[in-house]
Amino acid sequence: MGLGMNMGIDLGTSSVLIYVRGKGIVLQEPSVVAINSRSGKVLAVGESAALMLGRTPENVEAVRPLKDGVISDYKVTEVMLRAFISKVSTGFLARYFKPSIVVCVPTVITQVEQRAVEDACRHAGAKEVYLIREPIAAAIGSGIDITQANGSMVVDIGGGTTDIAVISMCQPVVHDSLKIAGNAFDQAIIKYVRRKHNILIGEQTAEDLKINIGCAYPREQELSMEVRGRNLITGMPATLTLTSTEMLEALEEPINQIYDGVHSVLERTPPELMADISQRGIMMSGGGALLYGIDRMLEAKVGVEITIAEDPISCVAVGTGLALNIMDKFDAISG
Ligand code: ADP
Ligand code: MG
Repeated sequence: MGLGMNMGIDLGTSSVLIYVRGKGIVLQEPSVVAINSRSGKVLAVGESAALMLGRTPENVEAVRPLKDGVISDYKVTEVMLRAFISKVSTGFLARYFKPSIVVCVPTVITQVEQRAVEDACRHAGAKEVYLIREPIAAAIGSGIDITQANGSMVVDIGGGTTDIAVISMCQPVVHDSLKIAGNAFDQAIIKYVRRKHNILIGEQTAEDLKINIGCAYPREQELSMEVRGRNLITGMPATLTLTSTEMLEALEEPINQIYDGVHSVLERTPPELMADISQRGIMMSGGGALLYGIDRMLEAKVGVEITIAEDPISCVAVGTGLALNIMDKFDAISG
């Protein structure tokens, strides 16, 4: 591995994080690229491109190259990865030594997409590139020793997908990836407000509601929040106040779908591993794990202790970076 940097990259649907050994998380930016749709020229990547979402003139397009957990545009993914890697490859060592990079990729990935990610890293100057699957990285990052012959279960709720996996000896034994995650929560809130109040709110507003007053389990104290939208009957701007109890109702369906996903993975889990899980509990990661009460809701329904990773948003990136240490223990992407 030499003197170069060892980098772990979490290529998420909402954001990209880069972890460098010895430094920690050195980059965290939205996975968004702004492109001139006429010339195809890339105008901005990451933070600055995200500011353009929903606000671009006709010839500018702000795209999320990873959608629903799959790489929907690998050319753009490559441009984005290169921009981020070169941004963090500064300093004396980076100038002379090429980094070894481990990238955590969506669970559903084709050979072509794998090549695209590898090529992007090589073009950005990587010496060695390894790919690992998200649930494995999430487990390592949350402190689970995955090399043991012991069943561990991780539930990672990201923006586009929820990845549920039972892992033993560095491999996912049973796994599922649902297209219900943070974005679906936002959409459920938009739908609820439209149906109940005849008001259309934007995606950013829905996300604010989810983060501030959203819940998957009744809050001890009722919260409320005032938001703006468009009255669908008059077409005029409107203001309304929503409560956490309404959020519980709005989020019921996607939350139940996540529970169903966990349930079906458990149903397919071999009995010995199931016994391990009921003893050790389930680990949650991803930004969606921060939704108030999601742990208590699952705990009540599944009957197994739920732990939320110490830093659920960066835990996949940390795990990806740490994976380099145990690369010889598992055969990366085939896992
Ligand atoms: P990805 O791995 O897909 O890039 P992340 O793990 O970063 O996604 O999670 C992004 C999702 O987490 C978004 O839908 C975001 O709204 C949600 N999120 C972030 N913080 C919170 C919070 N405090 N409460 C609820 N959801 C949150
Ligand atoms: Mg993620």
